[in-house]
Amino acid sequence: MTAVQILYIVAFALFVYGLMGLTGPRTAVRGNWIAAAGMGVAVIATLMIPGMGNWWLILLGLAIGAAVGVPSARRVKMTAMPQMVALFNGVGGGAVALIAWVEFRQSDGFAHEAAYVAVASLFAALVGSVSFWGSLIAFGKLQEILPGRPIGAGRLQQPINLLLLAGGLACGIAIVAGASAELLVIGLLVLSAALGVLVVLPIGGADMPVVISLLNALTGLSAAAMGLALDNTALIVAGMIVGASGTILTNLMAKAMNRSIPAIVAGGFGGGGGPAAEVDGDRTVRRTSAADAAVQMAYANQVIVVPGYGMAVAQAQHAVREMADLLEARGVAVYYAIHPVAGRMPGHMNVLLAEADVPYDRLKEMDEINGEFARTDVAIVIGANDVTNPAARTDPSSPIYGMPILNVDESRSVIVLKRGMATGFAGVDNALYFDPRTAMLFGDAKASVSDVTEELKNL
Ligand code: NDP
Repeated sequence: MTAVQILYIVAFALFVYGLMGLTGPRTAVRGNWIAAAGMGVAVIATLMIPGMGNWWLILLGLAIGAAVGVPSARRVKMTAMPQMVALFNGVGGGAVALIAWVEFRQSDGFAHEAAYVAVASLFAALVGSVSFWGSLIAFGKLQEILPGRPIGAGRLQQPINLLLLAGGLACGIAIVAGASAELLVIGLLVLSAALGVLVVLPIGGADMPVVISLLNALTGLSAAAMGLALDNTALIVAGMIVGASGTILTNLMAKAMNRSIPAIVAGGFGGGGGPAAEVDGDRTVRRTSAADAAVQMAYANQVIVVPGYGMAVAQAQHAVREMADLLEARGVAVYYAIHPVAGRMPGHMNVLLAEADVPYDRLKEMDEINGEFARTDVAIVIGANDVTNPAARTDPSSPIYGMPILNVDESRSVIVLKRGMATGFAGVDNALYFDPRTAMLFGDAKASVSDVTEELKNL
């Protein structure tokens, strides 16, 4: 066994061990470091393969990558993490597509290669290109460079997409059959680029994180295919790990939103929030003040904090922790209800609350906490909306009908912290706000929580 092979095995063990760490908030950061170290080992081992090529070019590439990647990853805000993931993942797919093109050129259109090398390379080129361009569109939508609403060609959309796919496949088949014109591989890349753009454009902003996870899985698959063509075990293993975990994550997210993956890809759901009425027919909302909210919670036996996307936007997690500490000091039991798709990425709330050092045993998953609401004096909803919407349980005509939600409306009283009456990401009204047991504390979540905390100190 060569040194390179031994190092690859070390790298794979680190990938798997790191991935195991990512299953819980306590070990996630360490898991990330371990997996990153594994990738470092794999890169070093690959560079040790004899005849690697032009060292200066490789070093230049590494330097440019590090100069762009490190500062942007350090600076990115937690709320912008999904688009960051989209971009990083897309670049991986793009790199795979370019490698496939280089292989095509170096082997005279795969003339002297076994058929499987050509098939795997062309599959990698097609899927990598779809993933790169699709991820760029997903990035553009989440970064609000492009409109979040679905943009599509209506009934023509599916036939156009099918034609593009058929065109790309035809180019690939021609190459495998022996044609070696470079225009064919360029055609394949361009057609699959158009496919990536046109598949993601009609998908609404609310579904973007699921799409990113799907594209992530595709990038993994394309990398694994390229590994097969290049006879590189590290690429196969790393690609398959990304492909498999991306597929599992996509499924879990779709399930938590009660949506099927084909329905998500068909598009049209959620354009990203909008105004709603404060008075709806004869229903009006009841407002409360920080002082009243503080009194209500201070004399409660049990309070459940329900964090959502608004807590992330306001960066209110530290303020929430401080408020909870004061309540606990007064003997109030405080728990946090974590919905699997609260926020904008899986584990979003766990990451934020872990950053604020909220003890892990206070965080309760949806299934664990839902039975508790009926016994709870105050549920304080901090910038969450869709994940608390009773319409998901009661209104079959609602777009979110069937999505499992936190049973906030079962608690004895509810305080909702948000800036106004805007809808959440799914763009639907929330009857919870008109419930007689609910009181609204309007304002930025961080400012409101800090005000409540000040009032608690004065009690
Ligand atoms: P929502 O998007 O439903 O609602 C967030 C609420 O936060 C808004 O109604 C907004 O109201 C409020 N808000 C925004 N900024 C602030 C602020 N600074 N201070 C106070 N409030 C603020 O969030 P949820 O977490 O409840 O639900 C997540 C949604 O995202 C679900 O629809 C889910 O399906 C979707 N999604 C989640 C994914 C994930 O992996 N987590 C992936 C894909 C989609 P206002 O403007 O009035 O303040």
